[in-house]
Amino acid sequence: MDTQKVIEQALKVSVTTKALEFGENILDRIPFVMDKFFPGSKAIVFADKITWKIAGERVYEELEKAKKEVSSYIITDDHFHPDWKYIEKLDEVIEEKRGILIAVGSGVINDLAKLASFRHGQQYICVATVASVDGYTANIAAINDERGAKVSFKCLPPLAIVADSKVLSGAPAFMNAAGYADLSSKISSAAEWMIADLFGTEHIHQGAWNLIQGSLRDMLGDPDGVRTGRPDAVEKLFLGLALAGVGMEYSGDTRCVACAEHQYSHYLDMTHHTFNSRPVSHGFQVAIGELAICAFFEALFTFDLSKLDVEKCVEVWPSLEQEQARALELFKDFPIPRLGYDEITKKWQPKEEIRVQLQLLRDSWPEFKQKLQAQVMPVRELQSLFLRVGAPTMPEQIGLSNKELRKITDCVQMMRWRINVLDLAKRASIYDEMMDKVFGPGGVFEIK
Ligand SMILES: [Zn+2]
Repeated sequence: MDTQKVIEQALKVSVTTKALEFGENILDRIPFVMDKFFPGSKAIVFADKITWKIAGERVYEELEKAKKEVSSYIITDDHFHPDWKYIEKLDEVIEEKRGILIAVGSGVINDLAKLASFRHGQQYICVATVASVDGYTANIAAINDERGAKVSFKCLPPLAIVADSKVLSGAPAFMNAAGYADLSSKISSAAEWMIADLFGTEHIHQGAWNLIQGSLRDMLGDPDGVRTGRPDAVEKLFLGLALAGVGMEYSGDTRCVACAEHQYSHYLDMTHHTFNSRPVSHGFQVAIGELAICAFFEALFTFDLSKLDVEKCVEVWPSLEQEQARALELFKDFPIPRLGYDEITKKWQPKEEIRVQLQLLRDSWPEFKQKLQAQVMPVRELQSLFLRVGAPTMPEQIGLSNKELRKITDCVQMMRWRINVLDLAKRASIYDEMMDKVFGPGGVFEIK
């Protein structure tokens, strides 16, 4: 894989991000990036205590050395969340210094800088410190608003991202492992996109597909290198995560980066799941979701759908009222009891449409199956990659039993209006059988 070529392709289609500076020991490029995109502007280096030490201080010094006007704002709290008080503080800092933010950090620091800059109608630079999430280049920031409720604010991604592989590879191994798992979710979510495309509910955006899928296998190809912090392996991983955000903005949708596997993570977040009294990282939650979805695909491939009795499936297809009642029952103890009801109301389709979808499925099988097989990874192979990178390979490693995973799966099918592999199984009347293959005797997640 030619990193520079991939970067060029990304920048060609990227709407907001205009520079992806990648390489080893490249923090000295920051003054040039400032000059190129924000000529004459003052810089405000924004970091927390840890990221200041990792890269912030260096960034500050490089700017001083280049005789740029620079100040800093460092969050000194040991533990902090993306709370509104920091947005207010950043508002003050930006107004007082009249400068451009250089966010040194991932997750919270980047999200805070993203929203604060957007509120002032200005853009910013992001210096990445860890390859743990794919939100760097997304056009949303997750912030706790004035009431304390987590809200996704629409804003603009960074104008420039500076990813020093030396810095990224120094991050704790478990954080980069989480990023690896998050990136791996682009395997099954794309296969589910193929199903949605076949069923006519969401067509494939070829540009975003090519951008994200083009080098995906290569980016996931060195789990040992990611674990041991080899700069080239971590750089590739980070690039994959950055492309996800670019693809989202390009296609105007999250369809190109996530599907059912991410719903497992949302479910665990919404139910405040903890393991050893701590929340589980987004990437590790997604790891288990990805393994589950890949296991369902593997089970799906054992069915010969070319012999599907379409009329029989259509006959037993439930009414919207039945599905709504099922959703209310399934989600009755969930923090948002109406969630399943609302989403299945959007997702449910009448018998005539189900008939057409199933005929398409039957008539295109086994070619369609082959295409799906080429896209998803056998679950054992994925487990071995996760083992090598240091991500969880079984639900118990994030504090879930196989039985709980099975239960969450029923909710995942209903949690989002997007068509996924579970919906295909429901339509083809093979859902229960498919679950048995995964959770029954001899299954990957056998319930004992
Ligand atoms: Zn994710």
